[in-house]
Amino acid sequence: MNYRGSCHCGQVAFEVEGRIDGAMACNCSICQRKGSLMWFVPRDQLTLLTPQSQMATYTFNKQVIQHHFCPTCGIHPFGEGTDPKGNAVAAINIRCLEGIDLAAVPVKHFDGRAL
Ligand SMILES: [Zn+2]
Repeated sequence: MNYRGSCHCGQVAFEVEGRIDGAMACNCSICQRKGSLMWFVPRDQLTLLTPQSQMATYTFNKQVIQHHFCPTCGIHPFGEGTDPKGNAVAAINIRCLEGIDLAAVPVKHFDGRAL
């Protein structure tokens, strides 16, 4: 399945390939504030449709996750990082995908604050 996603104003747009079998809600200091529902995919399943330079990027703490957001509308469509094996992954905020029934996606609550 191919999904299309974007920020609110469209300055950041992308396509992502895969099957959404669940999403993660995290209570760490940034996820709690963003309210995103994350779906993790290998980074190569994500294709940006807009220039990388149109996104702003926020990092904090160990600087290992790049939290991308739109500098115009402020929406956070996805982040990038690596899994424990060192593979590049993207954390897609499924709230930014088109044509998705959010209520049908099982949500797992992750205690990121405890890390
Ligand atoms: Zn925007």
